Amino acid sequence: MPANASAEFSRRLFLGSTAAACLVAGFGAARAAGSIKPDAKSALIVVDVQNCFIDGGTLPVKGGAAVVPVINKLAASFQNIVVTQDWHTPGHASFASTHAGKKPFETTSMPYGTQVLWPDHCVQGSDDAALHKDLKLPTAGLIIRKGFRKDVDSYSAFVEADGKTMTGLAGYLKERGVDTVFVTGLATDFCVAWTAMDARKLGFTAYVIEDATRAIDLNGSLAAAWKQMTDAGVKRIQASDIA
Ligand SMILES: [Zn+2]
Repeated sequence: MPANASAEFSRRLFLGSTAAACLVAGFGAARAAGSIKPDAKSALIVVDVQNCFIDGGTLPVKGGAAVVPVINKLAASFQNIVVTQDWHTPGHASFASTHAGKKPFETTSMPYGTQVLWPDHCVQGSDDAALHKDLKLPTAGLIIRKGFRKDVDSYSAFVEADGKTMTGLAGYLKERGVDTVFVTGLATDFCVAWTAMDARKLGFTAYVIEDATRAIDLNGSLAAAWKQMTDAGVKRIQASDIA
């Protein structure tokens, strides 16, 4: 074998092993299980895992209860956990019943833009608005309540639907040195998506743990949300990716 053929053979071997290493590191289609290890700068955000969004609630998300054991297992990997709670006044502006002639899942125009109208849900202090009883989150330090102003909805845990009123969550996380958030909960295409995209806008690295969420999927809203999240730099992972 001429010397240069041997060199060529070595180069191919090298390229082959580099490609394999890239796949393992997650550059390819598959990410190695348990390859992401949350640290002190990471926070798990558990969005709206409340009775209202589970079967038997006022605005049930299909399969919503299935996120509870997944999130409980993930909780063991996080030193920081934040929980959010949809917390509406009676007669809230996001309720179809508040608008004459409107039905749930229709839209209306609000001063801050188009608002989807929902069945009455998650009214402050009701059992419906309570967190799911099986959630076990030992390191959860904060519950952010949102949507509690009568005339403004809030899908996002960071910024209300007017696009300018901060909930304080970004300040809380930054003061605690958190730079990366992992978003879970309900529903993927509304409160989870808006929370993850606002996290990116506010300078956080943001992951959505897909199998720790469930979607409403209203008129293609799930596919649209994933497109918007991907465009915003939100990373889509599975619970098995977390160490
Ligand atoms: Zn709501």
